[in-house]
Amino acid sequence: MQGKIGSLSFVNKELEKNNLQAKKKFGQNFLTDQNILTSIVDVACATKEDAVIEIGPGLGALTEHLCSVCGFVLAYEIDKDLIPLLEKNLANFNNFKVINEDILKVDINKDIDELLSGYKNIYVVSNLPYYITTPIILGLLSQTNKIKRYVMMMQLEVADRICGKPSTKDYNALSLAVGYRALATKAFKVPRTVFVPQPNVDSAVIKLDVYDTPPVKAVDEDVFFKLIRECFTQRRKTLVNNLNLFYDKAFINKMLEDLNINPSVRAEALILEDFVKMSDYISQNK
Ligand code: SAM
Repeated sequence: MQGKIGSLSFVNKELEKNNLQAKKKFGQNFLTDQNILTSIVDVACATKEDAVIEIGPGLGALTEHLCSVCGFVLAYEIDKDLIPLLEKNLANFNNFKVINEDILKVDINKDIDELLSGYKNIYVVSNLPYYITTPIILGLLSQTNKIKRYVMMMQLEVADRICGKPSTKDYNALSLAVGYRALATKAFKVPRTVFVPQPNVDSAVIKLDVYDTPPVKAVDEDVFFKLIRECFTQRRKTLVNNLNLFYDKAFINKMLEDLNINPSVRAEALILEDFVKMSDYISQNK
């Protein structure tokens, strides 16, 4: 579909006509490339049977493409100045609803039950506000299992960290926190030049396919999420040196011995299953 909203001239005119400027505090960088908009929607593979949740529709560039391929688009936009523009720009679609709320404060399960029941799959598709990428992703993944897939654009470095594999420089607590609930894949890179205003970082689109049955499950998830942050406190330190900052030394030595984990290894060499084993040991022995 050839959209009308995501073009450089449309974005500039729309802001000028309405006496608005892109708001830095809301991470407003509008996408102005039709090919990239189409590619994002293609990665989601949504159909008319599916509903999509969009975070931060902005002027509606991505929304327009989503409305033409999916059953329904429910969007959350924090900036009240954009709501009338969005409603005007998307007036041709009757499968769109925008809620003027902060995505971090939404009761997502309640909204899905009230507004999206009857759709086969629920997906999130979004060009995220970069200043809150991590809280949005970790928040939604922990609050709901009703969303099957996430397709999201974010800062390239964050995308690399989320998709990071063990024993690489990108692998860290975020890779594990996301990898605990979903399979993360990087879809494609996006240059900074296709946004208005232009950000000072490049971007990438990633896909998260949420596990129906997670490959491993921690006895106490709070202990697991705390432990992965602790293990990566200082990347260059060994696992044991990081853990000694938070737990009794003798307890950690015994745990690593019992679990057959080399104490002089760095956290980046361990796989998800190792962290779950340590977390379960702590839950059961502390
Ligand atoms: N989707 C548009 C596009 O691709 O051109 C705009 C994307 S822009 C990177 C991020 C959007 O998220 C902005 O419209 C911004 O106002 C909105 N936003 C920022 N913080 C938000 C929050 N906490 N909840 C909901 N929307 C938010």
